[in-house]
Amino acid sequence: MEHVDCVVIGAGVVGLAVARALALQGKEVMVLEAADAIGTGTSSRNSEVIHAGIYYPQGSLKARLCVQGRAMLYAYCASRGIGFSRCGKLLVATTDEQVAQLQGIIRKAAANGVNDLVLISREQARAMEPQLQCVAAVHSPSTGIVDSHGLMLAFQGDLENAGGLVALNSPVAKAHCAHGAITLTAEDGTELQAGWVVNSAGLHAQALAARFEGLAPQHVPPSYYAKGNYFALAGRSPFSRLIYPVPEAAGLGVHLTIDLGGQAKFGPDVQWVESAGDLVVDPARGDAFYAEVRKYWPALKDGALVPAYAGMRPKIQSPDEPAKDFLIQGPAVHGVPGLVNLFGIESPGLTSSLAIGEWVAGLLNAK
Ligand SMILES: Cc1cc2nc3c(=O)[nH]c(=O)nc-3n(C[C@H](O)[C@H](O)[C@H](O)COP(=O)(O)OP(=O)(O)OC[C@H]3O[C@@H](n4cnc5c(N)ncnc54)[C@H](O)[C@@H]3O)c2cc1C
Repeated sequence: MEHVDCVVIGAGVVGLAVARALALQGKEVMVLEAADAIGTGTSSRNSEVIHAGIYYPQGSLKARLCVQGRAMLYAYCASRGIGFSRCGKLLVATTDEQVAQLQGIIRKAAANGVNDLVLISREQARAMEPQLQCVAAVHSPSTGIVDSHGLMLAFQGDLENAGGLVALNSPVAKAHCAHGAITLTAEDGTELQAGWVVNSAGLHAQALAARFEGLAPQHVPPSYYAKGNYFALAGRSPFSRLIYPVPEAAGLGVHLTIDLGGQAKFGPDVQWVESAGDLVVDPARGDAFYAEVRKYWPALKDGALVPAYAGMRPKIQSPDEPAKDFLIQGPAVHGVPGLVNLFGIESPGLTSSLAIGEWVAGLLNAK
């Protein structure tokens, strides 16, 4: 049976970042990816926003890895010529009651080490974005956007330059963990032995972990899926910054993001669904978008929103439970030497990817 030091399951932005970090430490690394290309999962169905780290509970992995990962990502993109823009974002209050929420958000951000938020008046916001309607806003200058595919290609390049490889069309079916080694079985029956295994299978991480013989079932959380639908704006973007309403319970509200080509899209909304594969955008959901967007951009014309695409949030809590943190479990938690499972890597997973890579490499080095 072939033996590899380290196997990462899943070639999304997080799996590739973990594989890169391990390869740069001199480990022999193989990434096993079920699809026929890298980054075809959630990593190609998101907003491509570099988040500042504003909303997450103090001390959570989301807060720490987002703030750390954001700084690493800007530096990495600049050094590697990956497309990005530090375009900034405005978080807008459209009612007087929401202004107090903005002040709470500034305090929460400061607790996370995000100290550059500025509360601005309606007039200041209008001077920045003339089409914006609001009572007040918070300006986040360190929020930006990134070319996520360019980023993943760069991660893959670093991995390969360090001697690692990505094996496409290689779905892992199950694993057997015993005596300090892990035997992986591919769907075609091929077996591979590894000293370290990182399960970064995104939406399928729990289903896969449930097929790891030797991992106690209580270490596999349940799976829930919260779809995020996007609607593209026909024509030119009316804004040059990202525009966010005050956040909602399960998402960040129907916000406007722009891509590096200057095209605007609205979303994602939050639609709890039964299946990870349910990615069709129902055009009827656009009706609710018009009402939400017009709260901050009244000039939105009827018929201007076009169904675009959807992404699926890999949730580990049900719709009735409070939001949970990233769940990254190494041997110290589950007791299986050499194994790390990554569960619930929803937003800000893209922003945090480089920091998650270093975090996971640290867990395995502590083996
Ligand atoms: C709607 C939406 C918007 C978002 N917006 C942002 C944002 O603006 N900024 C931000 O920072 N984050 C954002 N995120 C979060 C970010 O997209 C994710 O955290 C990140 O893409 C997760 O990457 P991943 O590698 O963990 O998962 P994925 O990209 O899903 O990769 C998992 C990979 O594992 C493979 N796989 C699955 N099962 C197996 C198996 N058995 N064997 C082998 N391979 C397997 C899959 O094919 C896939 O390629 C958003 C997420 C969503 C859903």
